[in-house]
Amino acid sequence: MRIEKPVIIAGAGPVGCTAALYLAQRGIPVTLLESGQELPKTLRASTWHPPTMDMMSELGIAQAIIDLGLIADRYQFRDRRTGAIAEFDLAALQADTRHPYRVQTEQWRMTQLVWDKLQREYPTATCLLDHSVKGVHQDSHGVEVLVWTSQGEQIIDGSFLLGCDGADSNVRKATAISFEGFTYPEKFLVASTPFPLETKFDRLSLVNYVSDPDEWLVLLKTTSLWRVLIPTDPNNTDDSLFLSDAWIQDRLQHMAPHSEPYEIGHRTLYRVHQRVAKTYRRGRVLIAGDAAHINNPLGGMGMNGGIHDAYNLAGRLSRIHEGADVDEELDLYDKQRRLICMHVVQEHTINNKKLLETKDPDVQRKRQDEFMRTAADPKLAREFLLKTSMIQSLRDAAKIS
Ligand SMILES: Cc1cc2nc3c(=O)[nH]c(=O)nc-3n(C[C@H](O)[C@H](O)[C@H](O)COP(=O)(O)OP(=O)(O)OC[C@H]3O[C@@H](n4cnc5c(N)ncnc54)[C@H](O)[C@@H]3O)c2cc1C
Repeated sequence: MRIEKPVIIAGAGPVGCTAALYLAQRGIPVTLLESGQELPKTLRASTWHPPTMDMMSELGIAQAIIDLGLIADRYQFRDRRTGAIAEFDLAALQADTRHPYRVQTEQWRMTQLVWDKLQREYPTATCLLDHSVKGVHQDSHGVEVLVWTSQGEQIIDGSFLLGCDGADSNVRKATAISFEGFTYPEKFLVASTPFPLETKFDRLSLVNYVSDPDEWLVLLKTTSLWRVLIPTDPNNTDDSLFLSDAWIQDRLQHMAPHSEPYEIGHRTLYRVHQRVAKTYRRGRVLIAGDAAHINNPLGGMGMNGGIHDAYNLAGRLSRIHEGADVDEELDLYDKQRRLICMHVVQEHTINNKKLLETKDPDVQRKRQDEFMRTAADPKLAREFLLKTSMIQSLRDAAKIS
């Protein structure tokens, strides 16, 4: 079937923007609806894994994402007390990807880039701010999407609706898809500082996972800032304390004592969940990205996995446009992406957190030995990097039929 009516996409996050650009580049009409008055600029994901960069390259925006960020060609596992344990060099993936490195660029820079590009270069793409999707009605020919704007309600007609509207997805709720899993008791705090933290640690790389039985950390560098991710006390519900200068300063000083106070930039406190939707498809309504699955940020798999959903789904819609069977394509989207999420991404991220925070010294030592052994053996290191960079999960998903 030719897709004549627009594919309606709820949410201009990285997932919705990827799907919109992919479809627009193939001449498929697309309407991208964003509830905000402007695109969000909050401090969220910033790591772009190699296969995601390969996809961005096919969309023609890889170089722009690189130009807006930093190339991290290696990353480290560290122990808070003893320093670097193992370093993984992504050059081991030379034969597996055109981008054997991570790119550190905040997600909002990509969404702004794609939003502008869609409006400038693709007349079949319509991008609307202040349009919040509230409900959907569908039949075998298409969808009618109920949208709220500050000017009142509207119904927008389309061929399919893609719910890329984040963790609180209205599209998921409107189609009564359950979101199963659990929520961690502690919230995570991300704070940024322009202070050159590399001067405080021996051989710090741009991406560092730091284990500790009392307070694990993730240290990530973006163009002008270091981002520090730390867990907060689950027994204290006073969010204003964790967001205060005094508390953050105390944690930064504990991490790396410094004679002056650290300059503190952005800060975000958020709840972390491990959840996967029961299905990614209800007829002509599909969900992708955080709307379909959420996980902790340890390993940078949330945004990347969501973009892999968008790429798979938009590819299938474009095959439908060329005549492929609707049910076959869309059922396979659900199967491939949901199974991989449940059996790979969820397990991997849950495990990452357990390993970083373990209080058992034997478990900690075994884990550190394992990292050292893996990093020192080129074959094991490549296998490890194929998994952690999500190349393996894409290969495994492609085998599901
Ligand atoms: C506070 C926070 C910090 C995070 N930090 C990290 C991190 O450090 N590392 C990491 O890997 N991941 C992190 N994540 C996760 C990562 O940001 C997500 O996995 C990623 O943003 C998913 O992209 P998305 O496009 O699916 O959803 P989103 O980025 O959430 O985008 C959804 C978009 O839809 C819009 N929207 C919402 N409802 C509607 C509606 N009804 N109609 C129309 N538009 C709507 C929103 O305004 C938003 O623009 C973080 C998440 C949060 C919440």
